[in-house]
Amino acid sequence: MSNRAKVNIGVIGVGHLGQHHARHLANISGINLSGVHDTDELRCKSIAEKNKTTAFTSIAAIVEASDGICVVTPTQTHADVASECIKGGKHVFIEKPITHTIEEASNLLQLADQYKVSVQVGHIERLNPALLPLKNFELNPKFIEVQRLAPYTTRGTDVPVVLDLMIHDIDIILSFVRSPVHNIRATGVSIITDSVDIAHARIRFKNGTVASMFSSRIAKDKVRKAKVFEKNMYVTIDFLLGLTEVYRVLDAKEDDPEALMSAPLDENDLSKQIVYEKPAVPKADALNLELENFANVIRGTEKPIVDGSAGLEALDVATQIHDLIIEDLH
Ligand code: NAD
Repeated sequence: MSNRAKVNIGVIGVGHLGQHHARHLANISGINLSGVHDTDELRCKSIAEKNKTTAFTSIAAIVEASDGICVVTPTQTHADVASECIKGGKHVFIEKPITHTIEEASNLLQLADQYKVSVQVGHIERLNPALLPLKNFELNPKFIEVQRLAPYTTRGTDVPVVLDLMIHDIDIILSFVRSPVHNIRATGVSIITDSVDIAHARIRFKNGTVASMFSSRIAKDKVRKAKVFEKNMYVTIDFLLGLTEVYRVLDAKEDDPEALMSAPLDENDLSKQIVYEKPAVPKADALNLELENFANVIRGTEKPIVDGSAGLEALDVATQIHDLIIEDLH
């Protein structure tokens, strides 16, 4: 495919989230929204009309008309829907979590290899603009603490909170810590649904890094915050506000042009200073960024930011955490 040709991308599943994929795809230059498909025919037609595109009545038809497909159906259906797209020779962008089970995800990745197409996963928080300034720092975390809280809604409750909310943080942490998992501890409880609504997990990695995650879908307000501690550096990230703050210990004579404030580390020893920075967070829409990435993957000019293996790794750790919680409850 030429780099300038429009990429045809279709959306399967245009419910709460998929309608946004369709709207964004219809408005990104270089992409043609090839159409939408949903088992709910009325919904399918209405979203197609809104976006001036075709309402396809079968997966086979939308696959035929597209270079790539966004799969935004309920998680339990990802494996079947994505397999059909892959067998049609098309690249897939699958909403998170990649599939319901690890076995399904492994089979899907094998199938994609066989058909030589790419699998990308919608772990959208990895593209949160608040994370972009961290690219300038070589992160080597010793301890990571993450909190992700959301007011209760019935949406997303088809899966436990670990697969709904915590999996975002698992994916981010796995991208920060390039070391295998050593052990996991986890606890959780059900409050409203029959599955786990509140979860706490602690991962120790082989390199010694510890990550602590707390997720709840029963909260008054939304909170999405991370703290990253490493030797002589402390970073706080507010994913909702798009705010990143960095505190570093530097030699007193080191000049930091980005510093907003500095103070001696020790009043009796002025050789070290604590420097505070608030790096500029670019204004960017994470869904646009991931869909542009998908289009460029189809063109062959970029690699997926979150590929199928990353989706599988996140699902693997999430499943282990959930299984430990269930074991702990019984
Ligand atoms: P939803 O129930 O609102 O929408 C799903 C749509 O898929 C519905 O319109 C339904 O009719 C349709 N559908 C169901 N089975 C189908 C099939 N076999 N073929 C075609 N259409 C089918 O769900 P949602 O909240 O939009 O979630 C969809 C997916 O997105 C889930 O996997 C969810 O985990 C994920 N999600 C991700 C994020 C994120 O932050 N990245 C946020 C919300 C949801």
